[in-house]
Amino acid sequence: MALAETSLTLEGDRRAIMGRAAIVLGLLVYAALLGGAWWAVVNLLPDQITLQAFGKSKTVSDLHNRIVTGIGLVAAILPTALWIECLAVGWERCSTRRLILGPTPSMRTDLTVLVLGQGHVLELAGKVMMLGASMISGIAIRDWIQARTGFAVDPSGLPLALQVPIYFYVYTFFDYWTHRLDHSRFFWPLHRYHHSAEDFCVVTSARQHPAAFSAIFVINLPLAILGATPAVMIFVSVVVTTVGFLIHSQLQSDWGWVGRWVIQSPLHHRLHHKLDMTHPTGHFAMAPIWDRLFGTWYGGAEPNLVIGVSQPYRHGFWIVPDLLRDYWHFWSGFVVRRSE
Ligand SMILES: [Zn+2]
Ligand SMILES: [Zn+2]
Repeated sequence: MALAETSLTLEGDRRAIMGRAAIVLGLLVYAALLGGAWWAVVNLLPDQITLQAFGKSKTVSDLHNRIVTGIGLVAAILPTALWIECLAVGWERCSTRRLILGPTPSMRTDLTVLVLGQGHVLELAGKVMMLGASMISGIAIRDWIQARTGFAVDPSGLPLALQVPIYFYVYTFFDYWTHRLDHSRFFWPLHRYHHSAEDFCVVTSARQHPAAFSAIFVINLPLAILGATPAVMIFVSVVVTTVGFLIHSQLQSDWGWVGRWVIQSPLHHRLHHKLDMTHPTGHFAMAPIWDRLFGTWYGGAEPNLVIGVSQPYRHGFWIVPDLLRDYWHFWSGFVVRRSE
């Protein structure tokens, strides 16, 4: 009997190891494909093309940069985050399996928002909804301030490897306050859309209302004014996007002292998404230091905490009714006071 049990365990271990090996192999193959695609874009594609249509010509320049930052970032970051999660929690519990084999209605919403977001459909809708306000360029404002006052932050003396973590913390400071603003009575209906998720599946990070524009004002503008170059902004957004995916994953870890002091952990972000509103909401920042400094750190992360909001959501692939209802609640919230 004992012998049979031992061989069963060994068989189980062997299968688990093979499973992990297959996941690692998959990641390596994908990384190689991505590297190949990168090489092909840079070496085989011209950086500038001229399109001819209806007797008119239009030149598109800086093509390599556009492709790599536009599609490449998400094509690299999202699968990597999904793979990391899969390696840590195993195939049975990972988001990839659930997204492919049986997404819940809440996950279907996440997927739809992600796909539309990548197609720039929602970005465009957001620009229209907010009357183009999000298109103001922080760099133009920085140049304007410098021309009039002489004020300019120039971090170019520091190596890039130092600029990135510095601006990451600057970013998380502004993100903290934007996020607290999002939880205020007026902005909550738009941010509620993110909190309506009932399961975490990595791509939940992309579930944002297209009109939730506050981040563009409160984050991108100060960062540009404080001297962050476009290159630094790209690296910071790689870190932010990666952490964003991981804290919305099935990783059930508080990351020890790292999660308590350096970068928010998945379990602390779960605590931020809690359905139970009898305790105040905390854990707004991607860097816990801001929550600790401004009194919104509560700790006590727990894997089985129920997440979501009390407002009913339809969820699923057809996302328009929920989006419009929340957009309406945003504007009407200036006149009517709602409990949720
Ligand atoms: Zn929130
Ligand atoms: Zn979240």
